[in-house]
Amino acid sequence: MPQKPKHPAWARRPRSSAAAQVMSLFKASSSLVAMLDPEQLLATLVSRVVEALPAVQGGTLWIYDLRSGRLRASATGGLPLDGAARRVLLASSLRSGEGLVGQSFQRGEPQIVETRLGYRDAVGPLPPTSAAIIQQISAQLPRRLVCACVPLRVGTEIIGVLELFTLGDPANRPIEISDLPVLQTFANLAASAIKNAQLYDEAQRSERRLKAFDAVVTAISTAADLTDLVRSILDVVLGLVPGATGALLLLDPAHDRLDLGAQQGLTRACANALHGVPVTESPCEEVVRFGQPMLRSLLEERGEGAFLAEDLAGCAYFPLLAGGTVAGVLALYGDANLPARADREMLLPICNQVGFAVANVRLYADSTSERRKLNTVVTSIAEGVVLCDGRGRLTLANEAALALLRLDSLPFEQRLAEMPDFYRMRDLDGQRLTLDQLPFARALVGEIFQGYRLILSGSSGDETVMSFSGAPARADDGTIEGAVVVFRDVTASQKLERAKDEFLAVAAHELRSPLAAVRNYADLLLRREQQRSQADSRDVRGLTILTQQVSHMLRMVDNLLDVSRIDAGQLDLQIQPVNLVALATQVIDQQRLAAGMRDLLLESAGDELIVHCDSLRIHQVMTNLIGNAIKYSPDAGRVTVRLRVAASDERRGFGDYLMGDDAMPSGGAPAAVVAVTDEGNGISLEQQVKLFQRFYRVRSHRAEGLGLGLYLSRQFMQMHRGTIWVESVEGAGSTFSFALPMTTGMA
Ligand code: ADP
Repeated sequence: MPQKPKHPAWARRPRSSAAAQVMSLFKASSSLVAMLDPEQLLATLVSRVVEALPAVQGGTLWIYDLRSGRLRASATGGLPLDGAARRVLLASSLRSGEGLVGQSFQRGEPQIVETRLGYRDAVGPLPPTSAAIIQQISAQLPRRLVCACVPLRVGTEIIGVLELFTLGDPANRPIEISDLPVLQTFANLAASAIKNAQLYDEAQRSERRLKAFDAVVTAISTAADLTDLVRSILDVVLGLVPGATGALLLLDPAHDRLDLGAQQGLTRACANALHGVPVTESPCEEVVRFGQPMLRSLLEERGEGAFLAEDLAGCAYFPLLAGGTVAGVLALYGDANLPARADREMLLPICNQVGFAVANVRLYADSTSERRKLNTVVTSIAEGVVLCDGRGRLTLANEAALALLRLDSLPFEQRLAEMPDFYRMRDLDGQRLTLDQLPFARALVGEIFQGYRLILSGSSGDETVMSFSGAPARADDGTIEGAVVVFRDVTASQKLERAKDEFLAVAAHELRSPLAAVRNYADLLLRREQQRSQADSRDVRGLTILTQQVSHMLRMVDNLLDVSRIDAGQLDLQIQPVNLVALATQVIDQQRLAAGMRDLLLESAGDELIVHCDSLRIHQVMTNLIGNAIKYSPDAGRVTVRLRVAASDERRGFGDYLMGDDAMPSGGAPAAVVAVTDEGNGISLEQQVKLFQRFYRVRSHRAEGLGLGLYLSRQFMQMHRGTIWVESVEGAGSTFSFALPMTTGMA
C-alpha cells in the first residue's frame, strides 16, 4: 500500500464539535439497532452515517460471506456513481487482505488514506479482476478523497467492513485519524445491529421452514388420495414462494413420462404444455435424470414458449425425491427474480418429503389393488381357502371356508393346539390327530401336499370328509412366514369310493373261485394236449392263450383282493429267510412265455442273497415289475434283473429317488436291492410321481391292467420296511428298484 500523508492540508479546517458527532452517531446507531430486516438495515446504514457525520459524503458496506470466504459489497450510498457503476460495485467482492477494505478486515483495525490521485490510488494494488472494477468506479469519483475503512466487529468476530469517504474538497473537514475511535464504536454498534438482524432473519426463516414443513406434513397425512395430496401440497408450496405459479408433475416410470398432477395459477396453454410430456421432451429432463434442482430463466428452445407468452421469465424445477428415486418434479414459474427468490434450503427438504409421500401413496394404491385382486380370486374359489401366519394363527379365510366349517366367523386368534378339538378332526381311521398331523402344521414345516383326507365332525355329530391341500408361504429369503391350506368336502366321493371298493372286494371274491377252477382245468387240458403224441398245434395255441388270459384275470382279481385286505388291515406277512436270487430266477422262468422274443437276463454276484421277507409278496412284487417291463417295452427289447447289496453309504443315493415318503430300510444293516431295467419308452417325471398311486395308469399305454401292481408293490415294501422307486428318462427305458433290509449278507 502506498504511504500517504495522514494529515492533508485541507483537513485542517474548523471542526464540528466531537461531542455533537458522537451524539448524532449514537442516534444513528440506536435507530439501526431497532431495525430487524437485514436488507433494510444494510440499505440505510451508509446514509445514516452520511447524515450523522458532515465529514462523510458516501460509503460502501462490505459484508463477509462465510460460504464464499469473500467480502461482498452489500450496500452503497452517497457516491456519485451512475447506475452501471453502482451495479458493478454491488456485484463485486474482495478477499481478506485485498485492497484497503480487505486489509482492514484482515487486521481488524481501521485504516485511513487520503489521496489526490483517485480511489484507485487509495485502495492500492489489487488482483486484475478487481482492479478493472475499481478502475471503473475510480473514474466516477473525485481524484481528491479520504477513504476510511472500519471493521464491523461483534465480539471477536469481524462480519464486514464499513468503507467511508470524504469526497473532493470538503466544506467542513475530512475524516481524520482522530475520528477513527468514534467510528469504530459506531461500527461495532452497527455490526451488532446487523448480526441481530441476521439472526432474527435466520430465526424467521427457520420458523417459516418449520411452518412450511408442518403444513406439508399435515397435507400429506390428511390427503385422501394422490390427486388430493398433490393439490394440497402445491397449495402449501406456492404459499412459500410469493408471486409464483406452478405445477406438480408426477413421473410415470413405465412410460418415462411426466403427468400433470396438479397446477395452480397457470393458463390453459401453460397447463397443456405440461400435460403427459415424455421425459426426453420435457424442459426439466435433467431434473428427472440427475435428481438435482434447476433454477434458471425460461427458454424458448427448452419448450417453455407458452410460459414466456404469459410474460413469465424465470423457473425453478425441484425433484420430488423418494430416497434415490425421482417420483416427480415441482415446477415453479414467475418473474426474472424467481430463481433467486426460490429458497432452495427450504424447498429441497420439502420436496423430499413430498417425494416419499407420493411414492408411499403409489405403493399403497398398488398393494391395495393387488390385495383386491387376490381377495376376488380367493372369495370366488369354491374350495375353502385359509391362510395362517408363521405361528399358525389364522389370518384370512374365504366365504367357502366358513361355509364348509359351518362357522359364522373364523376364530382368528386360535392356536394350532386348539384346532383338533375345535374342529373335531380325526384321520380316516377315526384316530384323533396329533399336532404335527394338522394340515397347517404340515405346511408350516415346509411340506407341500394334496388330497390329505381328514374327518371333521359337526356339532350335531355329522361327519364330513375333507380333502386338504397345503403349502408353506415363503418370504423372499426362503423362510416360512405362513401357510395356505385349501380344502373341499369329499364326503360324497369318499362314500362312493368306499362303495366301489366294497363292490370290487365282493366281486373279486366271488370271481376268484370260478376263475381259479377255469385256470386249473385250462392248465390241465394244455398239459394233456402237449403230452399227446399227435398234439393239435391249434388246440395247444388256443389252450395256451386261454391259460395266459385266465392267469392274467386271476392276477387282477388277486390284486383287488389284496387291496381290500390291506384296507381292512387283514394282510399279514409270513416272514422267513428267502433267497432272492432263486426267487428272481423262478419269476423270470415263469415270465418267459409272456416275454416272447424279449431277452430276460439275471445279473447277480452270487447264487444266494438271503433276506427275511414274505416270499409270496416279494414274488408278487418281482412278477409285477418284470411283467411291467415286458408289457411296456418293445417286442425285441431286453429286460435285465440285477441283484446286489447296497453299501450303507449308497443308501442316501437311492433315497433321492424315493417316491412318496417311504422310510428307508431301517437299522444299520445293508439292503438287498433288486432293479428291473427295460428298454421301453420311459416315463415322464410328472407321471413318475403318480405311478405308485392306487389305480393310476398312464393313459397312453394300451396294455391291460388295473393300475394296482405298483400300488401293491409299494404297500408290500412299506410292510417290509423296505422301499421302492423308479428312475426313468423318457424315450430311454426305466428302472424300477426295490430295497429290502438284509439280515444275511451275499453268500
Ligand atoms: P398296470 O400295469 O396294471 O396298469 P401298475 O401299477 O403295475 O399297473 O403300473 C401302473 C402304470 O405305470 C402302468 O399303467 C404303466 O402305464 C406304468 N408303468 C409301469 N411299469 C412301467 C414300465 N416299466 N415302463 C413304462 N411304464 C410303466
